[in-house]
Amino acid sequence: MELDLELRVAVRAVLDACRLARSVRADLISSETAAKADRSPVTVADFGVQALICLDLSQAFPSDPIMAEEDAAGLRPSGEAAGLKAGVLERVLALRPGLDEEQILEAVDLGRDQGGPYGRRWILDPIDGTKGFVRGDQYAVALSLLREGRVVLGVLGCPNLPARIGQDHGPPGRLFAAVKGQGAFMRPLDDQAETPIRTSPVTDPAGAVFCESVESEHVDHEQMALIRAALGAASRPVRMDSQCKYAAVARGDSSVYLRLPRLAGQKETAWDHAAGSLIVTEAGGLVSDLYGRPLDFSSGRSLAGNFGIAASAAGVHAEVLKAVKEVLAAER
Ligand code: AMP
Ligand code: MG
Repeated sequence: MELDLELRVAVRAVLDACRLARSVRADLISSETAAKADRSPVTVADFGVQALICLDLSQAFPSDPIMAEEDAAGLRPSGEAAGLKAGVLERVLALRPGLDEEQILEAVDLGRDQGGPYGRRWILDPIDGTKGFVRGDQYAVALSLLREGRVVLGVLGCPNLPARIGQDHGPPGRLFAAVKGQGAFMRPLDDQAETPIRTSPVTDPAGAVFCESVESEHVDHEQMALIRAALGAASRPVRMDSQCKYAAVARGDSSVYLRLPRLAGQKETAWDHAAGSLIVTEAGGLVSDLYGRPLDFSSGRSLAGNFGIAASAAGVHAEVLKAVKEVLAAER
């Protein structure tokens, strides 16, 4: 199948990245300590995952650029995160022994690509949902491949996600993946059994389950409540950090992921949406911005031509966009 090798390399890299992230998280004594701590645990995981995945990609596909969130400047001598370097090296070497310090720092810096409309490039968010990671809630490792500005492969590692939202039995941790035109699947992190996934068959938005960000700094919760009210959607929204929201829509736990920015000019970053959006569309859903425009990943590190996100089951997407339009018009 097309992109078979890319999928295998990406899945292996994301599985190892999830092990690294879990090991950093497990060493926090309790979620209480983590919440009070500075950002250092998150940052060790961010840099470590980025190094690991960039190393794997550069070995398998040496000519592919990588666009990732972090760079290694802060880890170098006199950098603001120099004190974290030992932790980053230790975590990476535990999974990829034999590398020297400079190889690991250079691997982080491979993520400097600025994006664009031509050729192949990988997009990586090493730890998406850093606030969820610190709280002990949801977070994701998000990796995708772009070809000529379009997402053709997406992998999401969700180390804390249960088999279904609200059902906590069984060990958490799921991986989601999709290749353009080949459908989407889910598997446990610790078991190779893959299950095809589909979005919800819901057609009445009044019965739709919405999901949205936890953080009220990131999105406008009040306006999203108005949109749900306009649709008659009575159930409480599921609040979750990271692209786990795309995973929830893709497998039908939720039917709509709305992301309404607080500020009119606010732009989304490419690595927050590339993997998740393909997984939802390959599971049968629809993804657009809040005006119904396709997400445009060809313009660099941010989605400069888009505003907000609406990812949903296909049967409710048009009505959700209509309600968004009404609520936004009433505000202005
Ligand atoms: P979520 O977990 O869905 O709320 O989204 C996490 C993403 O929100 C992060 O990866 C950041 O790119 C983005 N983010 C972080 N801080 C802010 C902010 N103050 N406003 C908007 N987005 C933010
Ligand atoms: Mg992110």
